[in-house]
Amino acid sequence: MRVVLLGAPGAGKGTQCKRIVERYGLLHLSSGDILRQQRAAGTELGKKAQSYMDSGALVPDEVIVGMMVDAISKASADGFVLDGFPRTVNQADELDKSLALNGEKIDIVINLNVDEQIVVERITGRRSCPECGAVYHIKNMKPKVEGKCDKDGAELIQRPDDTAEVIANRIENYHLQTAPVVGYYKNNNTVYDIDANKDADEVLALIFDSLDALVKA
Ligand code: ADP
Ligand code: AMP
Repeated sequence: MRVVLLGAPGAGKGTQCKRIVERYGLLHLSSGDILRQQRAAGTELGKKAQSYMDSGALVPDEVIVGMMVDAISKASADGFVLDGFPRTVNQADELDKSLALNGEKIDIVINLNVDEQIVVERITGRRSCPECGAVYHIKNMKPKVEGKCDKDGAELIQRPDDTAEVIANRIENYHLQTAPVVGYYKNNNTVYDIDANKDADEVLALIFDSLDALVKA
């Protein structure tokens, strides 16, 4: 099963992907997580991405497409769920071309729709574990002990690009560059639009309904 999860920054893609992979045994490929790992490791790719990420701009397509095609090539036959990629129509097109070389295609696209005010509240309240990448929210998904990761006890941090000024850029870039990706997929694939303003468990149930329909088909 090859799944793309679309949605604005802070829509809840990463949160839902962690639950999707548990049920369907897919590989979770988050372009943002891979970029942050590259930065932490001090690679050339990480250095190239740094200034774009810090200002809330998109990293150029030529950097991202190669990185994600390489990550996808390591997925098993069970498949993958893409989170944060593709983020431009060109990335979606390049992804399709790359999959087609192996006679493959994206099987299903799930689009998480969230109101802008809720997106801002989710991003500003997000706290992440620098050790294991677990994601919490100061109001909606609190850790058991305030400020500490449930899994490894590490001090939770606020991502440097989760501040008000950078968020405004990220949301603007989402409207300009990423929202058209939904239209691209509607022309070519099965797209499920989900109201993701709801509680995370309710959103998850809707996602499972869509994926189960594909598994049974
Ligand atoms: P994305 O991967 O789309 O950027 P995340 O999964 O990191 O978004 O979620 C953004 C923030 O919102 C996190 O702090 C997360 O805990 C919280 N969150 C995710 N889904 C929901 C939801 N359905 N209701 C409330 N808060 C949520
Ligand atoms: P995310 O973790 O998805 O919020 O991504 C964090 C940042 O990484 C974004 O603001 C971009 O700068 C960069 N990034 C992640 N995925 C992509 C992508 N597919 N295309 C371009 N830039 C990306």
